[in-house]
Amino acid sequence: MRVKHEVIRWHRKTFPRIAMDALLGKLREECLELVEAIDSKITDDIVEEMADVRIVSEAFFRFRKASSLDTETMNKLAINKKRVWGKEDDKGNRGRDRQAKD
Ligand SMILES: [Mg+2]
Repeated sequence: MRVKHEVIRWHRKTFPRIAMDALLGKLREECLELVEAIDSKITDDIVEEMADVRIVSEAFFRFRKASSLDTETMNKLAINKKRVWGKEDDKGNRGRDRQAKD
């Protein structure tokens, strides 16, 4: 929770009046930058963009105070743990056993 509190404290001070749609626009922008970094295969850039995505994602919880990225991550991880995964391919990918929205 320390990261969430640090991010939200900074975000409130820096963007005191930001609306959710503007924040989601920023999240989209940072996700696209992450995709570009992945395509570049430059590890330092990938890590930096991952951090940007996390910062904006943490800031999103200004609008969803009853939860946190940590809580939502643990909830999703619990779903993933219950999922039956297919056979691993030569790159380490494993498909899902079913089509899922998640
Ligand atoms: Mg960025």
